[in-house]
Amino acid sequence: MERRSAQHLVESEVVVVGGGYAGLAAGLRLHDNDADFTLVEAADRVGGRVLTETRADGVTLDHGGQWVGPTQTRLLELASRFGCRTFPTWETGSHIEVWHDGGRIPYTGAAPSDGPGILEYVRVTGILDELARTVDTERPWRTARFAEWDARTAHSFFRSRTDATDARRRLALAVEGLWCAEPHEISLFHVLFCIAAAGGFEQLMETRGCAQDSRFTTGAAGPARAVAALLGERVRLGEQVNAIEYDTAGVRVRTRSVLLRARRAIVALPPHAVRAIRFTPPLPDSRDGWLSHSPMGRVAKIHAVYDTPFWRKSGLSGVATLYDNGPVGVVFDNSPDDGSCGILVGFVYGDRLDRFSALDEGRRRAAVLESFAAVAGTRAGRPRDYTEKIWTQDPFAQGGYEAYMTPGGWSRYGERGWREPTGNLHWAGTETATEWNGYIDGAVSSGYRAADDVLASLR
Ligand SMILES: Cc1cc2nc3c(=O)[nH]c(=O)nc-3n(C[C@H](O)[C@H](O)[C@H](O)COP(=O)(O)OP(=O)(O)OC[C@H]3O[C@@H](n4cnc5c(N)ncnc54)[C@H](O)[C@@H]3O)c2cc1C
Repeated sequence: MERRSAQHLVESEVVVVGGGYAGLAAGLRLHDNDADFTLVEAADRVGGRVLTETRADGVTLDHGGQWVGPTQTRLLELASRFGCRTFPTWETGSHIEVWHDGGRIPYTGAAPSDGPGILEYVRVTGILDELARTVDTERPWRTARFAEWDARTAHSFFRSRTDATDARRRLALAVEGLWCAEPHEISLFHVLFCIAAAGGFEQLMETRGCAQDSRFTTGAAGPARAVAALLGERVRLGEQVNAIEYDTAGVRVRTRSVLLRARRAIVALPPHAVRAIRFTPPLPDSRDGWLSHSPMGRVAKIHAVYDTPFWRKSGLSGVATLYDNGPVGVVFDNSPDDGSCGILVGFVYGDRLDRFSALDEGRRRAAVLESFAAVAGTRAGRPRDYTEKIWTQDPFAQGGYEAYMTPGGWSRYGERGWREPTGNLHWAGTETATEWNGYIDGAVSSGYRAADDVLASLR
């Protein structure tokens, strides 16, 4: 990898913009096909929304994407090519639901079979699954009830399907946990599309055999770093693209220090980051309209580290769902595979994050540790290390896990604006994936697809 400050011209056949999993997968496919390319990444690291940090005591934490499931085969194959191994997510013991009245309801297995609103919740999510089976993920606009569903929010759908307040609470937390947005913000069609792209609601929600199945022993950035090492000096860090000019002759991609000339570009960025680039000529209305209907989800991921995973001795799994008034919505045991220390991870989503990020650091920490104590016992209030990553404050991601679609965006702009190439510009990024949209696996497949399109056009 190379970092230069002098202004100069770089010429290659293809420029890849973005060094997250989508851009890296595109680079890898170009590399494997002996294409000549340069990849530019704004940050001083690769991985984007996957961010693995080794703390002072040697403990490795994933602040961003971390889990991988067995049907996420592109990511698993990529990892295995570079010798990166996975281990199962810890879920032995009793899980806990914490309710707004202070009630703590233990349960085991994939999901509770008893508890407030559970039967209604299962019924309504069953309907979501049934509707999602009719979604055409390759050409979403061909879905029979596309416009009707895209005109609605998930909230209006839930209200029309159940009056049970606790079931609605469960449905709301499911939407917050999956899209980091509130049900009144997100298009019902988008929810159905993502369920279809994952292979069903259970695939999204559950652990064993599903999206939360496993973690990487290296941290989730391990495979990304291995790809970057293979690509070598074709990866240029610290190069934020601010302008792209494109015409039939090719593309000119500009950062503050470099002008990159190429025949084609693959832009592998989240929607807001595409909009921050000055395009000449301006992007078509369809593409710009699509991007403007794709805000990022709002999420913070918080880790507390302890000498041991002490909750396991009390028969607790460390997995919890919280319907109380605290900031944290979901907790997992994020300890390393060998259990050499104990780690709890908590997620703060949507509106709860708006309130949380307005607090000072001390209040935020106290509120999170109170939630952790409710889940794992009072010792959880005294971690040896505590760290939070508020993704809405990340300069490049500006949110997470991914961008979601607001009502009307898919139906007005989807057919032309979602991912159709614009002249010599090809679009990648997890938001353009037809399988596991919003996930690392979706990012990888989007990078491969864009690179394959470019290779075909160069031939
Ligand atoms: C808290 C959190 C938890 C998550 N959990 C999971 C999980 O457990 N499993 C899972 O599969 N997914 C998870 N995700 C989602 C997953 O991380 C993303 O879907 C995936 O990493 C997106 O990859 P990408 O390459 O499409 O985009 P990004 O990772 O965003 O990559 C885009 C890259 O472009 C760079 N960039 C931005 N602007 C410019 C510019 N102007 N010029 C040059 N470079 C630029 C960015 O720095 C970044 O490196 C999570 C995400 C978050 C935030």
